[in-house]
Amino acid sequence: MLFTCEQRGPMNIGKTILKLLKDEISEIDYERYIKQIDFCTENSKSDLARFLAPNMLVANWVKTKYSNKIAHLFEAKTGVRPEIEIRVHKKGSEKSIEKAEAATTHKPPVTHSLLNPSYTFDNFVLGKSNEFAYTAAKSVAENPGKVYNPLFIYGGVGLGKTHLLQAIGNLNQDQGKSVIYTTVEQFINDFTRHLRNKTMDRFREKYRLCDLLLIDDIQFLSGKEQTQEEFFHTFEELRNAQKQIILTADRKPKEIAGIVDRLQNRFEWGLIADVQPPELETKIAIIKKKCEINLVNLDNDVVDYIATVIDTNAREIEGILSKLHAYSKMMNKELTLDFTKDVLKDHIKEKRENITVEDIMKVVSKELNIKTSEIRSKSRTKNIVYARRIAIYLTRTLTQNTMPELAKYYGMKDHTSVSHTMKAIAKLLKEETDFKLKIDELTNKITANT
Ligand code: ADP
Ligand code: MG
Repeated sequence: MLFTCEQRGPMNIGKTILKLLKDEISEIDYERYIKQIDFCTENSKSDLARFLAPNMLVANWVKTKYSNKIAHLFEAKTGVRPEIEIRVHKKGSEKSIEKAEAATTHKPPVTHSLLNPSYTFDNFVLGKSNEFAYTAAKSVAENPGKVYNPLFIYGGVGLGKTHLLQAIGNLNQDQGKSVIYTTVEQFINDFTRHLRNKTMDRFREKYRLCDLLLIDDIQFLSGKEQTQEEFFHTFEELRNAQKQIILTADRKPKEIAGIVDRLQNRFEWGLIADVQPPELETKIAIIKKKCEINLVNLDNDVVDYIATVIDTNAREIEGILSKLHAYSKMMNKELTLDFTKDVLKDHIKEKRENITVEDIMKVVSKELNIKTSEIRSKSRTKNIVYARRIAIYLTRTLTQNTMPELAKYYGMKDHTSVSHTMKAIAKLLKEETDFKLKIDELTNKITANT
């Protein structure tokens, strides 16, 4: 559901939320960070609130420190806890885009994301772990529609899939080609909206007439049969016209459940490239590259230390840099190794608290002797349902995931199903001591393991 003007009210909801936040936080943080971000009405939905920040430091600071609070304020105000997205965007340019969209009224509003201009091939650090995907992406970017179609990039979180995807987009957009970058979620929303408004001809015009269609996180197409049907035809038409399709996912096409066969087959028609976790040298090089882009100066010993603190996920790097930068400014101190260690002490602790869905699945699966694939399936078998409900409860209580994210992960209809599960488990916990003990035991095992 998109926010309509009515829902935004006289003042947009984002502004209201930021105003509420102002009362809850320190003046320094408000002046320095919150004041600098703008709510992006056009691209926000009830389950996704997007804000624009003038630079990466502000974006990361707000994201790390306040996204939970912001989500909570939204939930209190609207009943839905949205995902909070803070994008870097120069002030004014979004407005001009909105204006441009409004001016061309015969065209549907563009709901796909803007490309991040820093996600380029030049800014991508090559290592053994990503060499294959990089080479494949580069050759597709230079010969769209001619070499591998589609290109399918898969791998774990934070390993550079979106970066590569957008690098292809940036290169071609700079050459004047029409590029659509979208997440599956946005694609589904767009599809639903056009279907509802009976404007499917516009939807088709938009997605079938582009030169390159880049779709991120295609695994979320799982179980969305109607959208798959439409996407199948989009795919066929683009491919027949030698237009390039590039897809990313967190796993191989064959491992994505709930995708119709003919589509799954087509995902394998071109080239499948994986990205692996970076080796230490690659991590160090990525940190240096991020420092260069963000004009942060760090000594080599500090860079090496950061590389050992983070595990595989490069997503952490920008958060760490902005944290270091902000702390050193606030305390007026040099970014020495000792200072870095001191600042990151909290980060390491936070990480320990930062349990992932996978950690939980591993423990629940082992302890209850149910396969993780079964936990995530739609099976109604009693012990599988039991394990699934426990997993959902633990994920919701131990991680930062929102209810819509959990619904997606566990293949449920929507967040209300998650909410029902939470209520049912809370009731059991109150009424049954044995059950509470089991949950405590699982919680201990999960926190001990991470
Ligand atoms: P994914 O889509 O695989 O989850 P992203 O593409 O979003 O990962 O990458 C997360 C962050 O790490 C981004 O800021 C990206 O620029 C950075 N990153 C990941 N791999 C590399 C790399 N090889 N070189 C430079 N930056 C990288
Ligand atoms: Mg991604």
